[in-house]
Amino acid sequence: MPDTIAAIATGEFITAIGIIRISGDSALTITDNIFRRSVKSSSKFAKDRHMYYGEIVNERGELLDVCMCAVFPAPNSYTGENMAELYCHGSPTVLAEIMQLLNRQRVRTAKPGEFTERAFLNGKMDLTQAEAVIDIIESETSAIAKNAAAQLKGVVGQKMTQIYDKLLDIIAHFHAVIDYPDEDIDEFELQSYNETLTEAIIELEKLLKTYERGRLLKEGIPTAIVGRTNTGKSSLLNAILGYERAIVTDIPGTTRDTIEEKIRVGNNLLHLIDTAGVRATSDTVEQLGVKRTISALEKAKLVIVVFDTTQPLCSEDFEIIGKIPGDTPKIAVINKIDLEQTFDIAELETQKFPICYTSALSGDGVEDLIEEIAKQFPEPTQAAGEIITNQRQSEALAKAVESLQNAKEALVALVTSDAVLTDIELALSAIGELTGATVREEIISRIFERFCVGK
Ligand code: GDP
Repeated sequence: MPDTIAAIATGEFITAIGIIRISGDSALTITDNIFRRSVKSSSKFAKDRHMYYGEIVNERGELLDVCMCAVFPAPNSYTGENMAELYCHGSPTVLAEIMQLLNRQRVRTAKPGEFTERAFLNGKMDLTQAEAVIDIIESETSAIAKNAAAQLKGVVGQKMTQIYDKLLDIIAHFHAVIDYPDEDIDEFELQSYNETLTEAIIELEKLLKTYERGRLLKEGIPTAIVGRTNTGKSSLLNAILGYERAIVTDIPGTTRDTIEEKIRVGNNLLHLIDTAGVRATSDTVEQLGVKRTISALEKAKLVIVVFDTTQPLCSEDFEIIGKIPGDTPKIAVINKIDLEQTFDIAELETQKFPICYTSALSGDGVEDLIEEIAKQFPEPTQAAGEIITNQRQSEALAKAVESLQNAKEALVALVTSDAVLTDIELALSAIGELTGATVREEIISRIFERFCVGK
């Protein structure tokens, strides 16, 4: 029988309200020991999912807090176990005292993610829903939060269950015919399942294809800001961020290392990387920065190339452009438009990338640049919940697709039924991994380790 656990769900900060969650067999008895309801009632325990006003007192009868309490008897709770929640004043000191009181009542402090792990183990949610819990907590854009909310409702899990059931039907049919030859069961004709396999592949691939965009939505679009020294890269980063993050000076080579920052731009999260430039230098620290710039360019999914409108284009500019991988989306920014232009735009137009004009100093044109970025990464067209943002899920999907493609090829090549069925079984196990039906224990603990305490 799992022990009873408790945690502060609202973090170790001063907040208006601090919530302590308690889950496990003895959660209700222990809550009843420490929480005194203000209005006495004949029943010993509080009513299911009702809020009560009262006091928390320790073993010596000392008052620790005046608070609210709700109880959730099993199985109608988040974890599926008996649960209670105390809505206290959000003082870390008071909350710590209450936690100590609970610990003395043999309630163990929960590990990160342990409540959600118990919810998963008790069948209250599948693994895609559990992972949506982390996504919603950590979401940095509203697109990701909405997607996670829909996944929390089981959008991915339901889709997977439908596919799983159809594939399971094929295997069940095959075994039924073999195991019960005397029964009146339709003959097993593998070819008749060709369409089921095709449909399953299409559905799984559709979901798998969303991962690339999903990852960028969740983790941010790696965006390298490159250009010759002193063109205003750091100033532009500050202008986009709206505050002074990078050190701006007119001494070439000030940004000796890369500076990274995340910023929400419309529905996108940009993971901005201000780079050190790519010029040849004898300074070892700067050389390291140049190396990092090149690696940032390789990883970037968007490159903003900054030019100084007061400087004519030179070979170094083209050297920088030449280091950007060909298929990476890029935007040229002609900066310092508040000064006189000596730059010949015609030379750049041959490069065929969108051009924005800015003054990082005054902020002019920064909005246009932000709009251009949004154009390159438009809002996803998928319904909320239908975007995969998780590597583990995308790997399981890829495995399922590969196994089903093998099954289909074998079917077309008229290979024996059991060879085809082995591939279908592999696909079933990959889908099971995705939803958590067949996932290994150590993977489960790895997943929940990423959670915060109290979730
Ligand atoms: P970086 O080396 O490319 O990162 O360039 P910085 O951002 O450090 O800027 C170099 C110099 O150009 C600094 O003195 C900035 O104040 C100046 N600067 C940057 N952007 C502008 C701009 O839009 N207009 C003007 N007039 N000066 C700018």
